[in-house]
Amino acid sequence: MMMSTTAGTQVNGRRAADWSALGVVCPLCHSELGDAGIAALACTVCGATWPVTCGIPDLRTIGDPYLSVADDAAAATALAARAGATPFGALYAAYYEGNAQVSADQVARFTHGVLAAAERASASVATWGELGGTIDRDELVLDLGCGTAPLGVVLAGEGHRVLGIDAGLRWLVLARARAAERGVDLPVVCANAERLPLRAGAVTATVGESVLENLTDADAGIAEVRRVTRPGGIFALTTPNRRSIGPDPHLGLLAGGWRSTGALRAYAQRTGQIMPRRRLFGPGELVAALREGGFAGIRVALPRFTDAQRRGQSLPVNVAIAGYHLSRRVPGLRWLVLQVAPTIAVVGRST
Ligand SMILES: [Zn+2]
Repeated sequence: MMMSTTAGTQVNGRRAADWSALGVVCPLCHSELGDAGIAALACTVCGATWPVTCGIPDLRTIGDPYLSVADDAAAATALAARAGATPFGALYAAYYEGNAQVSADQVARFTHGVLAAAERASASVATWGELGGTIDRDELVLDLGCGTAPLGVVLAGEGHRVLGIDAGLRWLVLARARAAERGVDLPVVCANAERLPLRAGAVTATVGESVLENLTDADAGIAEVRRVTRPGGIFALTTPNRRSIGPDPHLGLLAGGWRSTGALRAYAQRTGQIMPRRRLFGPGELVAALREGGFAGIRVALPRFTDAQRRGQSLPVNVAIAGYHLSRRVPGLRWLVLQVAPTIAVVGRST
């Protein structure tokens, strides 16, 4: 037996050829990637080299708006070192350890949210199905802005092949931990939605929850989704409604989408929160953005509330949710509620 050489070997076993089989290419020139030493990939045409951190190719060209690349890699490496021995929920909470800006209460709330996200993801998949966005088995699905991949894990559990892409390495380490706990394989790549490291037509469907509003350039992201999703393939997403009269998705302030940037900044400062960088969409704006990006057959709907979201709510809130669910079945009322609902679901087809 030969002593193994580590040249070309990637941590966790995936090599350039494996990434190529998933449609992963250079984000700059869309050419094939080759192995470049122990923890890097290199473009076979333009020569750009890309690090592989914790077994995850880092193909970002823009970076993460909230954390430097070095700090993100350090956080990812620290999480990866604990991943095997720590349950997913505890690993997620561990990310906030030692962060003085986040209280224990907030960590508990975030962790509860991230664990409930699996049920919310199932509800999104059901809502997209109602809009005609059913995804065929065995097809490759891109989970765009996957975060800790509640959606990707649900789809992989249903028998789809899923590739998760996110701009934060730390979330991808957590995504892999969530997938491992569920016993599903979820390859993940760190990249920007505005410059996807995928071949044209590489995927049959692209799905995303709460991603479009966080992109540096949403229109560029939509154009990239159209490029990598084969013609006829679906783009299904959920996004917070800019016109919602409910709590702001990032700051908690009522009807945040209706307020000026100055008012939001003042509120964030007063309540000790980070001002989100985002572009919220109303239902009409969302349809227009997808149409301009080359999608057809666009349909919007109200996503269902999950049982987890209903549990523990007061009676008036539950009555409101029951009315909301009823309105989903009454055409005129549905349109009216859609204008002010907290979240919009949309499905379009790539042309
Ligand atoms: Zn290249």
